[in-house]
Amino acid sequence: MALLQNKVALVTGASRGIGRAIALRFAQEGATVAFTYLSSVEKGQALEAELQALGVQAKGYRSDASDFKQAEDLVNAVIADFGKLDVLVNNAGITKDGLLMRMSEEQWDTVIQVNLKSVFNLTKAATKPMMKAKSGSIINLTSVVGIRGNAGQSNYAASKAGIIGFTKSIALELGSRNIRSNAIAPGFIETEMTGELNAAATEEWTKSIPLKRGGQPEEVADACVFLGSEMSRYISGQVLQVDGGMLT
Ligand code: NAP
Repeated sequence: MALLQNKVALVTGASRGIGRAIALRFAQEGATVAFTYLSSVEKGQALEAELQALGVQAKGYRSDASDFKQAEDLVNAVIADFGKLDVLVNNAGITKDGLLMRMSEEQWDTVIQVNLKSVFNLTKAATKPMMKAKSGSIINLTSVVGIRGNAGQSNYAASKAGIIGFTKSIALELGSRNIRSNAIAPGFIETEMTGELNAAATEEWTKSIPLKRGGQPEEVADACVFLGSEMSRYISGQVLQVDGGMLT
């Protein structure tokens, strides 16, 4: 049987990159897929059709994950459309890099709001139906940068480290309700986010990876399938690195 048969999943930020790969892999495993996009409207609409062509129920919602009210409305809409929510993947994220000396307050606030507050917003909304159902899996996208830091990314690293603390706390709070909470920490994955780096920086990253290559979005998506499925039913409060061995 497909690993996510009869499960309803919500993936934030699925118009591009890792989120898109997660939505597609989930559909291949039989899940009903609800997903969000924000600025990439056409790509979001195209994904909805692509998922439906795989033979599953799927719907894209335009929703800003960093907005508390929109997150609440989104979860209510998913419940109205599909009746339940089994798996939440908090994937939406951005970077606004710069050394601390040059980092503006706006750069700091926006990254914390989009990367970290969004996880609070969606998790708070999603755990209501999950608690009623006494079942759920929450998967938060953190980063190796949240574990070890990165020069020029203090805002991003702080947001991703915050996600790890949040993930572990929710695992402790909601384990008794059979709700699991885990994080995935990708290393260097080839998406538009890392495509912004110059060739020298990309080469530097690749050299530091034992597997000697960047990762693909599908390789992160496979880890999400595992954490979203019953295969991981006794795993909670963990950070799974998907980084080619970069950080040991
Ligand atoms: P990406 O290619 O830049 O895609 C980001 C996605 O997030 C887009 O679909 C975007 O949607 C969405 N998004 C951004 N702000 C949003 C908001 N406020 N509300 C809803 N959606 C929003 O990024 P990626 O590389 O796939 O990264 C996905 C996640 O993995 C992020 O959390 C990132 O920090 C994490 N990660 C990535 C890497 C890597 O190497 N790529 C490494 C470690 C961790 P629109 O375009 O529609 O606005």
